[in-house]
Amino acid sequence: MNATPDTTHAGTLQSLQEWAFGPALRRATRQVMVGKVAVGGDAPVVVQSMTNTDTADVDGTVRQVAALWRAGSEMVRITVNNPESAAAVPRIVEKLAMMGVEVPIIGDFHYNGHQLLAGEPACAEALAKYRINPGNVGFGRKKDLQFAQLIEFAMKYDKPVRIGANWGSLDQSLATALMDENAQRAEPWDAGRVLREALIRSAIDSAERAVELGLGRDRIILSAKVSGVQELIAVYRDLSARSDFALHLGLTEAGIGSKGIVASSAALAVLMQEGIGDTIRISLTPEPGAPRTQEVVVAQELLQTMGLRAFTPMVTACPGCGRTTSEFFQELAKVVQEHVRAKMPEWKITRPGAEHMTLAVMGCVVNGPGESRHADIGISLPGTGEAPSAPVFVDGEKAMTLRGENIAHEFVALVDAYVDRRYGAAVRAD
Ligand code: SF4
Repeated sequence: MNATPDTTHAGTLQSLQEWAFGPALRRATRQVMVGKVAVGGDAPVVVQSMTNTDTADVDGTVRQVAALWRAGSEMVRITVNNPESAAAVPRIVEKLAMMGVEVPIIGDFHYNGHQLLAGEPACAEALAKYRINPGNVGFGRKKDLQFAQLIEFAMKYDKPVRIGANWGSLDQSLATALMDENAQRAEPWDAGRVLREALIRSAIDSAERAVELGLGRDRIILSAKVSGVQELIAVYRDLSARSDFALHLGLTEAGIGSKGIVASSAALAVLMQEGIGDTIRISLTPEPGAPRTQEVVVAQELLQTMGLRAFTPMVTACPGCGRTTSEFFQELAKVVQEHVRAKMPEWKITRPGAEHMTLAVMGCVVNGPGESRHADIGISLPGTGEAPSAPVFVDGEKAMTLRGENIAHEFVALVDAYVDRRYGAAVRAD
């Protein structure tokens, strides 16, 4: 029987998750090195993202890759769709290196990847991984030949590949063959199951073909993306049961705004809770004017709220209700969340462990003090009609009360002081 969880301090989410469901044991997969980043095996789930710039625009692509990396993306994929973008790749990688941006760059190839890699050896060399879509490598008799050429480039340049099947570009010849096979069954499957099987077989058969050609099993990551939550869960459960290749998870064409976030989180959370998935991407359609980095933030928050990884201190905030008419606490929660996220790149180096810190910003005395006590540092603001004072709790104990106009500023200063005191010791001791 599981023990009662310790819900007092940092690590609460993980201990709760383990208490409620047991540890999310990862399915055993082969580890693949993508540049210096380990994917699969016992490595933590890796966050990746993709640019939406024209890759031939070197400066624009460098800027976006750097922004995605600063936001926490551990691998970044870029489109390589024509000779101009292939020629731009080595310059992009070089500029990033000069800026100190050490992130593996993955080339996304469709239809003409074999020609682009042949025409631009420097591109083939600069990329850390090639993404190959088995439904889009070529048609008819050329398909097998061009797939083999891509795998030969991967072996020649010692690069791993992701063999990424996709619902929207399903290998039609395989789908037709499986439909014919299905028609011979005494009890035929429904069309949806046949198409899911075609997607899975496309990924696994292509990977086995790559192995036959000489590519190591530890150089292959698989994905089989669909746009429906239940279909994605069904496909990946099957994919995971039928192979030990490292798996890239993502709900393709997840959508815009909250719909994309919710759909991706629902699908990926179920799978990761079952230990499936070695690297994830949240395929959000950015809202007009929204930063591309949002997909990285969502991926990190999904992993952190599930207790699988820690990236940045998490702020617990109440939703507010009729007990408080002031929006001040909402603004404070936003200020605090943005402050700790902005500080995290510096804290990562100078205050290791700060990413595990928990904070609470609560609107009134109903749940405020209790929730604040459960956080490492928390504040409970006054609700309507309550005394204009805000108790601050540190490590579960009431430490002080803030009053006046400068509560936000003073609380942020207390957070910084807490981080220095608690997480600065190891660095000072060096
Ligand atoms: S803590 Fe207070 S203000 Fe916040 S939701 Fe609960 S009762 Fe409402």
